[in-house]
Parts: sequence; C-alpha cells; structure tokens
Amino acid sequence: MTTIERFQTIAEAARSGHARDVHVLGGGTLLMRQLNYAPQSVARILVVEDTSMREVTSAGNRIRIGAGVTFAAIASTPDLAFLAPAARAIGGPAIRNMATVGGNLFAPSPYGDFTTALLAAGADVVMADDRTEALETFLAARGTVMRGLVAAVTVPRLTTGEFRFRKVTRVKPKGISVMSIAAHLPKTGTRFGEVRIAFGAMGPRPLRARAAEAALRGAPSDLAGVQAALRVTCDGLEPEDDALASAWYRREVAAVHLGRLLIEGQGA
Ligand SMILES: Cc1cc2nc3c(=O)[nH]c(=O)nc-3n(C[C@H](O)[C@H](O)[C@H](O)COP(=O)(O)OP(=O)(O)OC[C@H]3O[C@@H](n4cnc5c(N)ncnc54)[C@H](O)[C@@H]3O)c2cc1C
Repeated sequence: MTTIERFQTIAEAARSGHARDVHVLGGGTLLMRQLNYAPQSVARILVVEDTSMREVTSAGNRIRIGAGVTFAAIASTPDLAFLAPAARAIGGPAIRNMATVGGNLFAPSPYGDFTTALLAAGADVVMADDRTEALETFLAARGTVMRGLVAAVTVPRLTTGEFRFRKVTRVKPKGISVMSIAAHLPKTGTRFGEVRIAFGAMGPRPLRARAAEAALRGAPSDLAGVQAALRVTCDGLEPEDDALASAWYRREVAAVHLGRLLIEGQGA
C-alpha cells in the first residue's frame, strides 16, 4: 500500500526521512506511471506545498529555480530565456504544464533533456537542508546514494557567450531524445573561451563532453577551428542501446550534431 503525506514546508518534509521507496510528487508524469505499473516500489509519496518550490527568484549572480517549477513556467520566464528552448523540448504542452525541474533531475535516460541544459549552464542543486552541490556531482551519485528532497536548482546569470540547445529525435516535434546537446559558448574575439558542453541520452545520465570542451578552448570559432573537438566528441561519453537508437548509431552521429550546434546554432 502507498501512503501520501502532505507537508506545508520543505523543512517538515525533510525531517520525515527519505528512503529508496519514498518519492516526492513533482508533476507526477513519471511517478504516476511507476505507481500504476510497480506500486510495490512506491511506499510513500511526499507532497510538499511550500510555495518556494514553485518560485523563480534572483539570488545574487545566480537564479534560483524551485524544484516544483514546471517547464511551461520556465519557458515564460524572461530571466530564463536562455533555457526556454530546452524547456520547450520536453514532451507536448500537457506534459510541460505538469512536469517539473526537480523530476527531470531524476528522469532516467533517454529523458533528462532539461537537466542536460542545466549541466551545460553550470547549475547547482540545493537540497532541503540547504546543502548545495554541483549538478555534475549530484548526477554522478544519483544511482547509488539516496538523494532526499531537492528544494531548488540555481543557475548562473550567463552574461557572456551564447547558450545553445539541440534535441535530436526521430519523431517531431514531441519525440524522445536520440540525444540532446547543450553548450555555453563564451568567446574572446573570434576564439572560444571556457566552453561547457553536455550531452543527454549519451550515457546513464547527462554527461559533460570534457574532451571536446578542452579541444575548443582557445580554438577559432569556425568550421576549421571545431574539427579537433569533433574528433573527440565521444571521449568520456557512455551511450547505450535502447528502442530509439543503438549505442553504435549514437556514437556515429554525435559529432555531426555537435558540429551543427557549434556552427549553425540551435535547432533539430
Ligand atoms: C508523454 C511523455 C513525454 C515525455 N517527454 C519528455 C521529454 O521530451 N524530455 C524529458 O526529459 N522527459 C520527458 N518525459 C519525462 C518526464 O515528463 C520529465 O522528465 C519530467 O521532468 C519529470 O518531472 P515530474 O515533475 O513529472 O516528475 P515526477 O513524475 O513527479 O517524479 C519523478 C521522480 O523524481 C522524483 N522527484 C521529483 N521531484 C523531486 C524533488 N523535488 N526532490 C526529490 N525527488 C524528486 C520523484 O520521487 C520521482 O522518483 C516525458 C514523459 C511523458 C509521460
């Protein structure tokens, strides 16, 4: 049997304890499916009514996005315009009205498109007890450590460099990712600076393409300049076979799509 517990504040919910079979209700787009098909894996559902979970606020040079903020809300928040293409790439309108940023952090591959964008943006995860950790660290431990209640994520205000996002699907416009790619591309003159690139659906969780990032640093931002990065695109990525594409296919096309993102801009 599954019990549902309601909490007015994040602190109360955090004190109630967290175990592998305890879940937090975000939009329920994945959790309700799990409840229907594997109810034994969901012993308790926590419903947290704290309004801060659904707010986007300014926090110095960062923006705080409550874990319960939906993708429809992200797409209509001017401060988060750079993340709007990634938000609009999640499912269709009905899903975007329900699905939350917090739930996307836990969505298994090939889901996790928005988390991929957050990773490229340099996001941190804020837990219910205010502990903050880099999203990359959070994701690396996701499968092995009980993560507890996520209160929010924070992203830096990206004042320099373009932010680009590309989702590769077989079905348009609402298909599931063959891969998604996000990149923050600061430049000095005509050369790339400290770029960050993340791939979704190219491993068990969104991953940084660190070899490609290193090859781009200081390289000219033209077709010739990106070639070294494209040659090492898949270094450190761990694509898997699924119903959408084989790991082999993903490896074959990853550099093509990264090249398009770097040279042509975002889109699919
Ligand atoms: C038709 C359809 C299309 C979809 N398309 C896409 C897509 O294009 N791209 C994509 O990335 N995903 C897609 N998804 C998957 C899903 O909708 C999203 O990943 C969404 O962001 C999940 O968020 P949610 O709020 O619905 O999570 P929920 O279903 O509420 O929760 C999912 C998991 O996250 C945990 N969780 C949620 N919030 C918190 C929190 N604050 N703290 C701790 N744990 C938490 C829950 O315990 C649960 O285990 C799709 C799903 C469907 C049904």
